[in-house]
Amino acid sequence: MKDGTASLSAGLYIVATPIGNLEDITYRAVDVLGAVDSIAAEDTRHSRKLLQHFGLKTPLLALHEHNEKAVSEGLLEKIRQGRSIALISDAGTPLMSDPGFYLVRLAHENALPVIPVPGVSAAICALSAAGLPTDRFVFEGFPPAKKTARKHYFDDLQAETGTLIFYESSHRIIASLEDMASAFGADRQAVIARELTKTFETIHGGRLADLVDWVQADKNQQKGEFVVLVHGMPAASSSELSVEDEKVLLTLLEELSLKQAASLASRITGVGRRVFYERALALKEAL
Ligand code: SAM
Repeated sequence: MKDGTASLSAGLYIVATPIGNLEDITYRAVDVLGAVDSIAAEDTRHSRKLLQHFGLKTPLLALHEHNEKAVSEGLLEKIRQGRSIALISDAGTPLMSDPGFYLVRLAHENALPVIPVPGVSAAICALSAAGLPTDRFVFEGFPPAKKTARKHYFDDLQAETGTLIFYESSHRIIASLEDMASAFGADRQAVIARELTKTFETIHGGRLADLVDWVQADKNQQKGEFVVLVHGMPAASSSELSVEDEKVLLTLLEELSLKQAASLASRITGVGRRVFYERALALKEAL
């Protein structure tokens, strides 16, 4: 046992587990999972295998999106009585597109200790290797499953200047990429990070339109788990144009030369041609 976790103090331990490669668990996570009184897990059958792999016999109980409210009070009561409880999810960091927010908030409201035991999360893992700007980023989790809602959702993010990070499932990866291309523009740079830390790990970047074709052309690239990262809207000289004006310009740039697009965008919107031209230049340079 390292770093004084031999006798754990009472509290809620938020423990990150691997997203594929089991060697990504931390020494401290193994220690804490072995030392707590019980572990609240999203799927106990799945987590039992993880515990078995590390030779741990700590009792598991289920905490998932359907019972989180019902079981949280009971868990906090145990902590009040001096017990230590760990929260884990099926993969990665709990609460990151996973259950636990209600429990953690309730623990804070009741002035009970919440102790993070950090480790991997697919979003940060993907961001670290994507080659897109990391100084500002927005974690968006899963886009809506329904097409209309998803299109509106991407439209609302069109002018975001930080790198956008999405989770997506294999069922919707193509549809989602298509909707991203129409909302953010075919030329916007993006990266697909698939099956991170696993055998078929793939990190592939390019224009959104090219990524749609690339995934469509290869059935293997449609399997597994995905993080999609999209370059933020280039910030240079964007202030004079509204989000709608930008969309007009981006759409026209897909088909026309810079000059033609600027001129037509100006006729459509009434905004000066020069403004569009400069913006188009900045966009081309940044992408
Ligand atoms: N809590 C997890 C975390 O910290 O990343 C995420 C849980 S969320 C329910 C599951 C989604 O995360 C997957 O659908 C996928 O979008 C992403 N994900 C998880 N593991 C991944 C991996 N190995 N490679 C790529 N994406 C992954």
